[in-house]
Amino acid sequence: MTPAAETFDAIILGAGGAGLMAALTAGQRGRRVLVIDHAEAPGKKILISGGGRCNFTNLGAGPGNYLSANPHFMKSALGRYTPADFIALVDRHGIAWHEKTLGQLFCDGSARQIVAMLLDECAKGDVTIRCGEAIRGVDRADGRFTVTYGAQAATAPKLVIATGGPSIPKIGATGFAYELAKRFGLRLIEPRPALVPLTLGPDDALFRDLSGVAAEVVARAGKTAFREAALFTHRGMSGPAILQISSYWRHGESIGIDFLPDRPAGWLRDAKRARPRAGVRSVLGALRPDRLAEALSERLALGGELANLPDKALDAAERRLADWRFSPSGTEGFAKAEVTVGGIATAGLSSQTMEARDVPGLHAIGEAVDVTGWLGGYNFQWAWASGWACGMAL
Ligand SMILES: Cc1cc2nc3c(=O)[nH]c(=O)nc-3n(C[C@H](O)[C@H](O)[C@H](O)COP(=O)(O)OP(=O)(O)OC[C@H]3O[C@@H](n4cnc5c(N)ncnc54)[C@H](O)[C@@H]3O)c2cc1C
Repeated sequence: MTPAAETFDAIILGAGGAGLMAALTAGQRGRRVLVIDHAEAPGKKILISGGGRCNFTNLGAGPGNYLSANPHFMKSALGRYTPADFIALVDRHGIAWHEKTLGQLFCDGSARQIVAMLLDECAKGDVTIRCGEAIRGVDRADGRFTVTYGAQAATAPKLVIATGGPSIPKIGATGFAYELAKRFGLRLIEPRPALVPLTLGPDDALFRDLSGVAAEVVARAGKTAFREAALFTHRGMSGPAILQISSYWRHGESIGIDFLPDRPAGWLRDAKRARPRAGVRSVLGALRPDRLAEALSERLALGGELANLPDKALDAAERRLADWRFSPSGTEGFAKAEVTVGGIATAGLSSQTMEARDVPGLHAIGEAVDVTGWLGGYNFQWAWASGWACGMAL
């Protein structure tokens, strides 16, 4: 028998960054809010983020740092709730932070402080949070949503899908948002693992032997490029440059790596004049980690002294080093992906309120939606901004 349902103004499914931000915003506006999560505690992804220090925003976060089928969708929310707004909240809670690199802000202490801050703000808004209960059913009738969870039921005129994407299932991530969205007639953009290591096939086996070697590179997929560190692993490639480019990479495509981003055109000819007795191997060895220089020169197969190598061959080697082509065999999948590209199509949502155009009262926020940020605090900024926009409309 279904138990008598408790009534609320809004029910939020998912106690991650986006759900908690929507809850605290609506709660502090006087709404009676219930948050339900099947994990035993809220904010689990926040706790493991940024190596335990949570890269909670990026000073430069703007629409250009996000992937979506509609590159304009995130503008409104990001413009209304900015990194400065979140920093002000963090400062009000006395949480010390620092900029690590490229505008990325991290807690000096622990990601736990961010979760504690969000829960404290939820408490100020009298938000009810119920964790550790499986959601058994979600129904809509007469303009109200009824959610059955554990042995309980709740009803409200507003329902928020904030259950994130399927990345890192071992901490409770699921595709529940997509199932629910589909049931209410919302379209999906195919979800794919993103910010994820790429695997290399047998053709690039030589590079897998470089496991542990890192170097600053420019990684390219199509017109997109990132200059950051790349790391060879026993399965393929990782490191920030590769994670970033993985979000843009599609199966069957190649990626290009510039192994020597600072070299001017003609630098190998110059090296030939300056050090005619040197070989390609030793010239590369002076610029790149030794094992990488070894692997690259083995592949270039230009033996002997530079003096004996034709300029044309040096020019070709230079071009290859600047755009070394890899054809990844795949990715390490949702098990290792920091985020999911794709998700609930933005075409069915209002960019102001995150409400479904055709299902009044239904909202979707955070990673569940087809908005995906780069590595570097952008995904949390989207969680905060979309959660805030939704919370203001509940
Ligand atoms: C290892 C790692 C490190 C990261 N580091 C950073 C970082 O430093 N900076 C950054 O910006 N981004 C980072 N990210 C990405 C960031 O964590 C996410 O983009 C962000 O947490 C998304 O917030 P969300 O609230 O939309 O979803 P989530 O945080 O995933 O929250 C969804 C919630 O819904 C719950 N849920 C899921 N399915 C169900 C269900 N069926 N029933 C009930 N509840 C359910 C989950 O338990 C979870 O609590 C990282 C991600 C990972 C995996």
